[in-house]
Amino acid sequence: MSDYHHTKVLIIGSGPAGYTAGVYASRAMLSPILIQGIEPGGQLTTTTEVENWPGDTEVQGPDLMVRMEAHAKAMGCEIIGDIVTKLELKSRPFIATCDSGSKYTADAIILATGARAKWLGLPSEEKYKGFGVSACATCDGFFYRGQEIAVIGGGNTAVEEALFLTNFASKVTLIHRRDELRAEKILQDRLFKNPKIETIWFHELDEVIGTDSPLGVEAIRIKNTKNGKLSEVPCKGVFVAIGHAPATELVKDILETHNGGYIKVEPGTTRTSIPGIFAAGDLTDHIYRQAVTSAGMGCMAALDAEKFIAESN
Ligand code: NAP
Repeated sequence: MSDYHHTKVLIIGSGPAGYTAGVYASRAMLSPILIQGIEPGGQLTTTTEVENWPGDTEVQGPDLMVRMEAHAKAMGCEIIGDIVTKLELKSRPFIATCDSGSKYTADAIILATGARAKWLGLPSEEKYKGFGVSACATCDGFFYRGQEIAVIGGGNTAVEEALFLTNFASKVTLIHRRDELRAEKILQDRLFKNPKIETIWFHELDEVIGTDSPLGVEAIRIKNTKNGKLSEVPCKGVFVAIGHAPATELVKDILETHNGGYIKVEPGTTRTSIPGIFAAGDLTDHIYRQAVTSAGMGCMAALDAEKFIAESN
């Protein structure tokens, strides 16, 4: 039998946006409940050093998230290890149903479900996922000690992954579709100085080549984006780092979205198209997508929810 709980503010998601909303909503005496989701701590738990979190010259991503969780808890936020599988937002109180069968009713909801790594969608990428193809260097880099690795992409994630993978790999080849990286200049400097990293410009992944039994990667075929010429790069691991897409499955047919699926909020606020539903962090932000901006939006969402609840009474 499912159990029911009521809360003034339900927070869904446990990245910087969710935990910051938890801190602020707790301090507003709203006794929030936060449902952590499938990956407690979010994307920062799959990174290593974070060097742009104010107050910490360098902090490990997973450690930072443990501290944020402890902070929210210490302020009075109830943190639940469960996954919201369904939201009913037509009338108030809103209803959230979790994987465990628990149901939560809430006067206001803060959505902070973040974003997930994108894939290219190639059949061979799918075939070798988990058998040489990965989107998480910190999770899987260790398996490629002494091997050659390819990284696809040109943003912060791709460059950070390439740098991190040099801890294990004999060689890392970064494949980028243009001749200019999107990554921060400080990361680019480190990349170009690293003798283990070679960058191949104007190329994209065409196919992952490997064996069937056992399943494993042997090389990648890449295509020149200017003249279509194909070539092969030998490697045992392929890390796809081509950006992230907002995790909007719960609400994509209910709330207004824009810019390729990001939840639309009223400019300068976290208010979505349904009064009482607020969105913060990577599921609404297609521009900045930083831990610190997500945390800022989590704060805004808690303040917006507090105001909404006060005005509804
Ligand atoms: P991103 O900045 O969107 O970069 C994605 C990269 O993948 C781009 O270089 C893009 O190429 C390439 N790409 C996209 N689709 C592709 C395709 N189909 N085939 C080949 N290449 C493709 O994504 P991200 O690196 O994951 O970063 C996401 C956000 O998180 C950013 O705002 C970033 O600043 C932030 N972030 C910050 C840190 C940090 O501060 N330390 C670390 C990680 C991420 P083009 O350049 O040609 O478009």
